Amino acid sequence: MNNPIKFLTNFIFPPKCVFCNSVLEPSHADNVCAECRLSVRYCKDYLCCIKCGKPVVSYGEEKKCYACLNTRHRFTRAASALIYEKNVRYAVIRNKKRCVKENVAEFARLMSLTTEMSYDGIKFDAVVSPPPSKASLRKNGFDHIEAIAEELAKSLDLPYIKGCLRKVRQTPHQSSLKYAERIENLRGTMECRTDMSGKTVLLADDVLTTGATADECARALKSRGAKKVYVVTLATAVKENL
Ligand SMILES: [Zn+2]
Ligand SMILES: [Zn+2]
Repeated sequence: MNNPIKFLTNFIFPPKCVFCNSVLEPSHADNVCAECRLSVRYCKDYLCCIKCGKPVVSYGEEKKCYACLNTRHRFTRAASALIYEKNVRYAVIRNKKRCVKENVAEFARLMSLTTEMSYDGIKFDAVVSPPPSKASLRKNGFDHIEAIAEELAKSLDLPYIKGCLRKVRQTPHQSSLKYAERIENLRGTMECRTDMSGKTVLLADDVLTTGATADECARALKSRGAKKVYVVTLATAVKENL
């Protein structure tokens, strides 16, 4: 490490791995430990569904996963940086409870690289993020997705539309529900507060599960004129044994 001030700061406040939270040496060049560097899996290293961006073992002529062959997503396409498992899952859950500047920066950096790689040549007009639930805002006092999306917009040199999407109705916790149940559960729960006429939007979120939340966001954005809604997430849940 060439910067003596950074070395000294790192000495007093040792950096931690953004994924497993283990303490790193003050001289460590970045915020990922050696173990996580080897174990974290990147979607770009796999064959991915052309629609939802989830890694698959194989696909047919349409280049879509089984779920996308049977679903009409409202979003245009989705892409994710990492597979949602082990330490990535731990990092996402930890970030919900406590937004650490270094972690937000690293997540936004990974999402920015994914955007540039997956959506090469697409001109975005703005970055938006799904609205937080009232319960999580009350509990944590901050919107952890907003922090990442804002940082992502900065690195892509795009405007971030704060508060663009709002929840008009709270939804019960839905992590155990399947796509069809989730989309039914979410229908009409979001509202877009900005005129999005003709805009190509980048929707940023931490995890893509079934894509139902992204679809409801896309519906709300399109109801205010958005032309296309691309999704980028830090991680994506994968069912297949890759
Ligand atoms: Zn680690
Ligand atoms: Zn798919």
